[in-house]
Amino acid sequence: MKRALYIIIGLIAFIALPIAGEAIAPVAPAPELLEVPDTATPQPKRTPMPSPELIDEPKQPETTPEMTFLGKFIVTAYCPCSVCCGKWSNPDNPITASGDPAVEGITVGADWDMLPAGTEIYIEGVGWRTVQDKPAGWIIKRYAGRILDLYFENHADAWNFGKQELEIWIKKEAA
Ligand SMILES: [Zn+2]
Repeated sequence: MKRALYIIIGLIAFIALPIAGEAIAPVAPAPELLEVPDTATPQPKRTPMPSPELIDEPKQPETTPEMTFLGKFIVTAYCPCSVCCGKWSNPDNPITASGDPAVEGITVGADWDMLPAGTEIYIEGVGWRTVQDKPAGWIIKRYAGRILDLYFENHADAWNFGKQELEIWIKKEAA
């Protein structure tokens, strides 16, 4: 008899528990939470990332394959006038620090510790130049040697060139 009672109590508990559980069950979620996500919304397009070498590769001129990229330099300009050259001004017979005559289209000034006289340099958008001159020491210091000074025959051209940050290459040394 006692055993039957236990069974009944067990049964009641078995039935009652789920009911109680339902009673304390959370309220049905708000309708907006049940809304099916709008599948019509287009997913953001994933454009494939260009490979790093395509981003970092400098715009190396096609005509000159044997070159070493030096990064960006500040490029200024000068002419042989007294405004540009002060006491070294010699418009009639402009001579560079190397002893070579200054020639527009050839002559460029550089830090000889970094780019010795005679170094051939390719300047983005300008072309090939040869290191023949050197800027004043304080200018080299100010730019930590990353400075080129482009020679022009007349002051207006030098003035128009102004000061630009350009990519620089040098001819690869013969190994
Ligand atoms: Zn000048």
